[in-house]
This record gives sequence, structure tokens and C-alpha cells, in this order.
Amino acid sequence: MAEIQKLIDGYRRFHKKYFLSDTTLYEELDKVGQSPKTLVLACSDSRVDPSIISDADPGDIFVVRNVANLVPPYEKDDKGFHGVSAALEFAVRILKVENIVILGHSKCAGVHTLLNPEAVEDSDFIGHWVDIGQPAKEKACDFVGSCVESDALQHACEKEVILLSLKNLMTFPWIQERVGAGSLTLHGWYFRISDGGLQHFNPKTGVFEEIF
Ligand SMILES: [Zn+2]
Repeated sequence: MAEIQKLIDGYRRFHKKYFLSDTTLYEELDKVGQSPKTLVLACSDSRVDPSIISDADPGDIFVVRNVANLVPPYEKDDKGFHGVSAALEFAVRILKVENIVILGHSKCAGVHTLLNPEAVEDSDFIGHWVDIGQPAKEKACDFVGSCVESDALQHACEKEVILLSLKNLMTFPWIQERVGAGSLTLHGWYFRISDGGLQHFNPKTGVFEEIF
């Protein structure tokens, strides 16, 4: 109960700030609607909240979160429930965001599961979902020179998953088209939980570089 009370107290602070003290932002968002310029696709991990990390205001970022910040490949003919793909389509084709950020992070349990699938052999959904990351796992094993569990393999795989998600974004025809036209830019970010460091992938150098 104490945990829920903490959230209710937080809601009251939020409500006071945006609906009692200064109402202009939400009045505008209500009247005009949302027009976020950036979609952030992040892991569901409770420590890596895109709005908190980027200190964003309401209306600034359109957020999609899932286990291990994975983008599935474009699958038009598969009539499964494509929640991530639907959110991408809404952000890119309706909201016309100008940036997509894939936000990965250290100590990712989803990536750990990808590397150690035996832990979720009995799972209903997790194992199948993180399987999207297989190509990233193979690259990380090649890079480290071993598929045996290690911190180096975990770090390498967390970054390869970001690159795989960026690659899979380009399998969506309307993303490919807008990137080609220069109206949409893709970004890969990596957040370190230990010290709050943030890196971005530099496509020119092919490595993740510190942001600061
Ligand atoms: Zn994670």
C-alpha cells in the first residue's frame, strides 16, 4: 500500500504543477493536440524512463517501451498483434515525428535473457519476444570471441540490440522513405545505470560515443 500511496502523492504533485499552478501547457495540449517531434523506443526497465532521463515536458516525446528495446522486423502479412509496429506507424505516418531514438541500457534483463534463454524456457511470451535479438547475440559473440556469459558479452549485446533495432526500423517502408527524404533521423542511445552516462551511436565512426 505504501508504494501505491507514493504514486498517488506523486500524482498530486504533478496535478498541482500542471493543472493548478501553471495551466498553459496542458491547455495548449488539450486545444491543439500533441505534436511530439521525437519517438523514443526504450526498454520497459523501471530505471530507464525516457521522460525522466531527457527531462522532457508533457507532449515532448512519444514513447514506446518493451522488453529489451527491440524493434521487430516489418511483417505486413503476419496478422499477429503488432503493438510496437502500430505505435511506430502512428508516430511516423500520423504524428510525423522527425527523430526516432532507440534507448538501450546497461544491466538489461531482457538482453540477459536473450543471452541465457534457458532461464525462460517455460515462459509464455518472453523467450519468443527476445528471440528477435538473435542476430545481435551472434554479432556480440563474434565481437567478444565467446558466447560464454560475461560482462563484456552483456555490454556488447546491449549495444548490438540497439543497432539491430535501428536496422529493423529501416525494414518499414514508410520509415525508409522518410529517412531517405531527410525528414526523419534515427538515433541509437545507450544509458549506463552505474553512473548515469549516456552514449550515442555515431554512424560515421561506427562506435558509441559519450554525450556531454
Ligand atoms: Zn532492459
